[in-house]
Amino acid sequence: MGKLSIVATPIGNLEDITLRALRTLKECDGIYAEDTRVISKLLAWYEIKKPLQRLDSATEIKKADEIITRLEAGEYVVLVSDAGTPCISDPGARLVAQVREKLPDVEIEAVPGPSALTATLSIAGLNVTEFTFLGFLPHKKGRQTALKKIAVSEIPIVLYESPHRILKLLKELEDLHISRIIIARELTKIHEETVSGTPTEVLTHFAMHTESIRGEFVVIVKP
Ligand code: SAM
Repeated sequence: MGKLSIVATPIGNLEDITLRALRTLKECDGIYAEDTRVISKLLAWYEIKKPLQRLDSATEIKKADEIITRLEAGEYVVLVSDAGTPCISDPGARLVAQVREKLPDVEIEAVPGPSALTATLSIAGLNVTEFTFLGFLPHKKGRQTALKKIAVSEIPIVLYESPHRILKLLKELEDLHISRIIIARELTKIHEETVSGTPTEVLTHFAMHTESIRGEFVVIVKP
């Protein structure tokens, strides 16, 4: 029986990768990546050459069958996403579930490392004994329900958001009369920035610094 490794990769800064992740990428038989072009840059940086295949949310189920066959044949297969930890708002969970179900004896190992979730929590200055991670809010159906959940939460809520929707989200949080939020943008990258305040204050910041409405965002809503 082979082995499936779920390997965390950097969320920006290419130096944020563990020695074990590098060894795993070097030793495996093949890598499945959300976007092979993205992971190729990381592999080229570390001079790792491996057969690469795409596994994104559209191809995950189909590729799971192929990976199961490879694991049965004794291969060592790695899954990575574009950034951070696979399966955290990224493809991979359905693959892992399939492998668990169909090959219960196969080892599935985590090679932990960066995640925008834990990176943001680590600099938020909150006593994070408990929190709710909602990831990306649904765009339409279920969004209002999620927002209502946020409004009454007694513990911090962590959200992922894209630059296209960050202003919409901030306005919604303003309407909910949320008292304080923390936003981490472009963590580990050149334009890394953390902004905190009321949603209105953060909206004012973005109105004054429109160049800041770019990149990737994590939003923490304080209870
Ligand atoms: N699996 C990833 C992880 O472990 O963090 C998350 C993947 S999810 C598709 C991408 C979202 O993660 C972005 O829209 C943003 O909300 C967040 N994110 C990823 N990299 C980030 C960074 N460098 N700074 C801030 N947020 C980031």
